[in-house]
Order: sequence, then C-alpha cells, then structure tokens
Amino acid sequence: MSTAYSGPDRQGYFGAYGGVHVPDVLVEPLREIDEAYRRISRSADFIAELRYIRKHFQGRPTPVSYCRRLSDFLGGARIYLKREDLNHSGAHKLNHCMGEVLLAKYMGKKRVIAETGAGQHGVALATAAAYFGLECEIHMGEVDVAKQAPNVARMKLLGAKVVPVCFGLRTLKEAVDSAFAEYLKDPINTIYCIGSVVGPHPFPMMVRDFQEIVGIEAREQFLEMTGNLPEAVTACVGGGSNSMGIFRGFLHDESVKLYGVEPLGTGSKTGEHAATMTYGTPGIIHGFKCYLLQDEKGDPAPVYSCASGLDYPGVGPEYCQLRDAGRVNYVTASDKEAIDAFFRLSRLEGVIPALESAHAVAYAMKLAKEMEQGAILVNLSGRGDKDLDYVMENYGLGE
Ligand SMILES: *Cc1c(COP(=O)(O)O)cnc(C)c1O
Repeated sequence: MSTAYSGPDRQGYFGAYGGVHVPDVLVEPLREIDEAYRRISRSADFIAELRYIRKHFQGRPTPVSYCRRLSDFLGGARIYLKREDLNHSGAHKLNHCMGEVLLAKYMGKKRVIAETGAGQHGVALATAAAYFGLECEIHMGEVDVAKQAPNVARMKLLGAKVVPVCFGLRTLKEAVDSAFAEYLKDPINTIYCIGSVVGPHPFPMMVRDFQEIVGIEAREQFLEMTGNLPEAVTACVGGGSNSMGIFRGFLHDESVKLYGVEPLGTGSKTGEHAATMTYGTPGIIHGFKCYLLQDEKGDPAPVYSCASGLDYPGVGPEYCQLRDAGRVNYVTASDKEAIDAFFRLSRLEGVIPALESAHAVAYAMKLAKEMEQGAILVNLSGRGDKDLDYVMENYGLGE
C-alpha cells in the first residue's frame, strides 16, 4: 500500500477521525492490544495459521459470481457479486472474528468478550471462540435478546455465555457499556473483540486488516474472470467493515468508482434512517471520532433500518477520511429499494441476500441502468436466511 491510504497514525487517527477517546483506565489495555497486534500479526506463524483457517475452515476464497439474468433484466452494466454469503456462518463478519480470536490465542487470553445488537457479531465471535476453545461472553440488551431468539440459541449452542443487559433502553448502547465494564474487571485474561471497523484505536485498523482479504481476492478474481477491472464497486455501510474490506482492494485503481451505500430506511423526511455520511456531523461515539448522527446534546441519535446490521449512528474513521479525500462516494438505498433488490436477486439469480447486502445490490441495480455498459462488483456481505421471518411477515413473497 502506498502512503496515501496507509493510516492510522501512531495515535490511531485517520486524518481528523478515530483516536482513543476512552476513560483513563482503558488507555493502557488498549495500548497493549495495539502493541501485541503490530508484533503478532506480522509473525510468520500467525500469518500461516490465519491462511490455513481461511482455506480449510471458512471456505476462502469465496467466489465472484456473474449475475447473467439480473444483468439482462436491467439491460445496462453487468453485475457481479463477491460472495461473502458463502463464508462459513453466512457473512463477512467471521473474517475479522477469526482474526481477533486468533490474536487472543497468541496473546494468551482465556476469554473473549463483546456486545451484540441483532446477534450477528455475537454468533460470529462465538463461532471463532468455539473453534479455538476460548471462553466467550456476549452482552446483549434484554430487548434484543427477546427479539433475536434464533441468534441467542445459536450463541448458546456454540458455547457462549449470553448476558442480558437490563439497564437504560436495554439495547446496543447499554450492551457496549456493559461489555466494556466486564472487560475492565480482568483485562489480563480477557480481550474485547469489536464487531466492525469502529471503536477506539487499534480496533478500526485491526478489523480493516482482517477484512482486506475480501478486496484482495475480489480484484484478482475479477481480473482473471473478465480481463478488466470493474467500473464500480458497491458495498453496504453499517460500521463499515465489509465495505472497507472490498474497497481496500481497489483504492489505488483510480478508474474504479467506489460506492458506500447507507440505509435510508423509510426516508430522509421521516428521520427514520441510519445514513450517517449523508446527514451526520463529526462527533464522538464508543471511544472514537467520526461522522455521527447526533441529537442537540451531541448524544448518538436513534437510528433505523430494516437491516438491523446497518442501524449504527456512527461509521468507521477510515471512511470519514476517505469521504473527505473524495475517494469514496456516499449514497443511499431505502428500505423499499433494498426489499425490491432482495426479491429480484432471489428470483433471478438463486441467491437470497441479507437485507444489509440487499442495499448494495439495490444501488448497483440503479447504477447499472444509468451506466448502460461496463461492470459493477457488489460485495454481497451475507446471506438472507436470518431475514426470512421479517420479510415474510411484512412483505410476503413480493409482488
Ligand atoms: C453486520 C453486517 C453488516 C454491516 O456491518 P459492516 O461493518 O458495515 O460491514 C453488513 N452485512 C451483513 C450481512 C452483516 O451481518
């Protein structure tokens, strides 16, 4: 990587964003993780073990698929998918969870701890912890525990301890506070594992590095398949891990336009969305600085998307830097557009996408019609089995 996009600096800043905005007691444990990560992640043993796991457990490389019927239907640019839905456990999240728990193993930790909202990060982390034989504790708001029964069952099956959080609004924000408090009780034996390219340094850097494999593979596969680079790459943006992963593969290819697709929910007028880049302003959340949807007091605002993995009021610091640099285009897709893409991709390609990923498909469909020719690569971050109940209940089988 050349220096233009090689952050963060030693203080954990990507330009004006990121950093370590945490209580004093957390500074030292985070510094230790940073130091250990920089040392261990460069060691030949660590690299070899991660490579082995990706190939023999996760099922990497995941393929790139050409969407012939969808492309014909749209009549414009060709659409291709990077198939992270075929990653073991059904989404890209396992890429960073396997990396984080492998690091925990090398650091001699006995237990991993995290919060989860809809349960996707909790399931991926519990999967990794089971693989390595580490204890796993997942903090989850009581409201979410009730809503996400199948993921709670999965985490328990995988051997994780699920701790319901019963204070405040009993959702994600309180789960983060609770997980951090628990982590601070024993930072020697425990490591905190974040679920996206967010949080205080070094997490945005670590998670980005573990997701970069998606972009490296995709670029190589696409070139081999078509002889060219795509004209555009689209990916959905919650915290930003799957999109950073695929974008990193193409940052230096100036001809490739990059589109981060944010959830517009029910629309800009209703305020029920999570389009951080489009409507946010710089602020601080969960220990780092970023664009943030915030209320008058500077507290994170309530956000909404039909895709629960996208309803985060902040966004990774590296993205904020790429936005200011003009390298990534920030665009949106509404609930309605995502649901339409969900049905189209299922019917025309035999691929049921996660509702999160359907946002990236939706924008690619719009773009394909405008472009008339060329190719668009979509990061299909996950599969949609987890969303079937919600879609059936609210939309049936579509039109
Ligand atoms: C969690 C999740 C996302 C959103 O997270 P990012 O960090 O923005 O990638 C997207 N897609 C799927 C399938 C997810 O589970």
